[in-house]
Amino acid sequence: MIEQAEHILQTYFGYDTFRAGQKQTIDNIKDKHNTLAVMPTGGGKSLCYQIPGMALNGTAIIISPLISLMKDQVDSLQALGIPATYINSALTAGEQQSRLEEIEAGSYKFVYVAPERFESSLFVSVMKRIQIALVAFDEAHCISQWGHDFRPSYRSIIPNLRELPDIPVIVALTATATTEVMTDIQSLLHIENDYIVKTGFERENLSFHVVKGKDKSTYIRSFMSEHKDESGIIYTATRKQADTLYEQLTKRGLPVAKYHAGLTEDERKQAQASFIHDEKTVMIATNAFGMGIDKSNVRFIIHYAMPMTIEAYYQEAGRAGRDGEHSDCILLFSPQDVQLQKFLIEQSLMNDEAKQHEYRKLQAMINYCHTHGCLTSYILDYFNDPYNSQEICGRCSNCQHLQERVDITEEAQMILSCVKRMGERFGVSMTAKVLKGSKDNRLRNFRLHTISTYGILSAYTEKEITERIQFLIAEQLLATQDGKFPTLKLNQNSVEVLKGKQTVWMYTSPIPANETTDYQ
Ligand code: ADP
Repeated sequence: MIEQAEHILQTYFGYDTFRAGQKQTIDNIKDKHNTLAVMPTGGGKSLCYQIPGMALNGTAIIISPLISLMKDQVDSLQALGIPATYINSALTAGEQQSRLEEIEAGSYKFVYVAPERFESSLFVSVMKRIQIALVAFDEAHCISQWGHDFRPSYRSIIPNLRELPDIPVIVALTATATTEVMTDIQSLLHIENDYIVKTGFERENLSFHVVKGKDKSTYIRSFMSEHKDESGIIYTATRKQADTLYEQLTKRGLPVAKYHAGLTEDERKQAQASFIHDEKTVMIATNAFGMGIDKSNVRFIIHYAMPMTIEAYYQEAGRAGRDGEHSDCILLFSPQDVQLQKFLIEQSLMNDEAKQHEYRKLQAMINYCHTHGCLTSYILDYFNDPYNSQEICGRCSNCQHLQERVDITEEAQMILSCVKRMGERFGVSMTAKVLKGSKDNRLRNFRLHTISTYGILSAYTEKEITERIQFLIAEQLLATQDGKFPTLKLNQNSVEVLKGKQTVWMYTSPIPANETTDYQ
């Protein structure tokens, strides 16, 4: 089948060679092994099920979380002359019925459905009668409660699949490579270790930047004026942020569109079309926009606020540069972003265990914003990327400021011993106040003004002390306990620093100090 697969790749899709992981995934499916393919966004996951779907007898069923996503995929298959359709709640009952009849008559090679479709007994009965080539779980991380987009309906499909007369081969595809999500997918879908295909996660054409302490809207305006005519996406954390920014930029005559779940379907369609056709070069959107958007020339992704997890960040940032050209991924950080994400976790309906888990992931995201190390390496380490051989990428905003470094071992020891003397019961801000020697009343209430490290770093501003504490956390020289108000704890590395066995180097701040004025 591999020669046949290559033939399909060339004649239908017009590509010469397979990308990393594609051939192996196709091969596994051909041999009827349930397979998990983990590839970065833009890595080419669709072909991994589309090619075997064409080569095998029967119809391929693709489970996809978003209606817009299925329509795009179906349109592009149809454009290549491949019979494909979708069934979802946006169709009338009559349309659904006639598509089901066509599916039963074997008219389609590909059928895209939302997971909820399996709740329809009519649909399931058709599935039982047709020959199924394979079942693909697109965006398979939705199946895992540890993923950043859990959909319980994804899980409830599994018992239905077991009831089919011929249990079909399953392929799960995702860009989320954290161990716990992978393990969850593996056990739920019965995928053996040998059939996990994981490619390297590095996108060499992407440069990552963290920008702190700037007025975000001013930054975006000047960025856009320096990158006129370039296509980009600005992700905001809330609909309100998207609306406000859209208004500000439109007033200045900038070519922006906006997209979020609070708009009507027509408004969203229009915004998406004007962006895809480059009438509006920049899209301002919440995370409702993007899954499945295949626009190849997106030159920059700006995050107006820090997202909740590295998975979500890398997936959104990964929408830049699908054409392989150099592109920038910029995260505009402010401390308020952290408060917003904590608020969102608190407001959610998750149980306590799940909340703690989200706090842990949030902390990893916060650490990304504070690390002085290579940002690319940080992300690749987070995903345990086995191909991450180079220590630094040389492209990210931190690598560009790596020339100078200073020895801050002494300050680090002062901070760590202060944490210890405070009984490891307080968070970043109280610790910074104690080190500064603040007159804040809360300190007196806890008698923290009497401990020996009170005011020991009074020569620094509270902001500078906070930055150093955040830096120690990001470098794992100091730990935080998960939760809404994380308290600082010493770890094994802290002990080494306190004993003078480890030197602490801090690179000169990635942002020149005079630019950090609104950084609290
Ligand atoms: P993902 O689902 O992993 O984000 P897609 O399947 O949408 O990625 O593929 C991203 C882009 O790469 C698409 O434009 C696709 O046509 C293209 N692509 C996929 N496989 C190949 C290949 N073997 N050679 C060249 N381009 C490819």
